[in-house]
Amino acid sequence: MASGPVLLCVHAHPDDEASKGARTVAKYHAQGARCVLVCCTGGEEGDILNPAMDLPEIRGRLAQVRAEELAQAARVIGYDEVFMLGYRDSGMPGAPANQHPQCFAQAPLAEATGRLVAIVRSTRPQVMVVYPALQSSYPHPDHLRAHEVGLAAFKAAGDPEAFPAAGEPWQPLKLYYTLWPKKRMAAMREKFSELGLEFPWSPEHFAQVLQAPQEEVTTQVDVSGWGHVRDEALRAHATQVDPASPFWFGLPPEVAEPLDSVDEYHLAVNLTASRPPEDDLFSGLRERVTT
Ligand SMILES: [Zn+2]
Repeated sequence: MASGPVLLCVHAHPDDEASKGARTVAKYHAQGARCVLVCCTGGEEGDILNPAMDLPEIRGRLAQVRAEELAQAARVIGYDEVFMLGYRDSGMPGAPANQHPQCFAQAPLAEATGRLVAIVRSTRPQVMVVYPALQSSYPHPDHLRAHEVGLAAFKAAGDPEAFPAAGEPWQPLKLYYTLWPKKRMAAMREKFSELGLEFPWSPEHFAQVLQAPQEEVTTQVDVSGWGHVRDEALRAHATQVDPASPFWFGLPPEVAEPLDSVDEYHLAVNLTASRPPEDDLFSGLRERVTT
């Protein structure tokens, strides 16, 4: 039976949905897909990275402020539904928050997977997007956990014997990993130096990120023309994103946009006839979904 296209994206913290894949979601939402965001944690451990927002009245209610920022960013991007998985931010690797009993990193895998399976079964996505297995350049405990839980939920959601209390089985047909845009980073750094601007990363850090192993790019989604949505969604996270950030906003949009016109993905599990290379997360599904 044909049904409308549904895309479900799993992110670790409020603001990850803005920095990773926001333009892809905006494009599919505009084309009529129902877009679902699952945010695993409340971002309680995030530092205030925008000096203008580093105020006692913000610090005192940071979790609430981050929830409001997430709601605003999700609206801007075009997410139709937002689910919180309900865990606490685990903080950066080695931080004491890693040991907090409610944090995502400490959550039993089966419990967190069961929560995500219930969301998958109720929203019925054909396509799921999660974090990659290879994350050595930014090994945040919540991002690593989001990968494990996303992969486990994709596999369990269609199995009637798994999590029988979590709703009617539903098998998504494609699982993607979002990839860090190495080519964009290299092009951006070149443009910074061409314009005589200082690139915000040290050469050592840049080399480390560029050399970090990554899954193969199987799928490039053309997102040209959607950069303004990502920028607006990033700015909605006012405590987390400095509007003067050279990393996000250092190049004028008309210079940055041509360097950065695709979102890249790795097709990790594929139950359709689509064969990479692809330019559409729904390829192989178009005959099954109606818009
Ligand atoms: Zn994050």
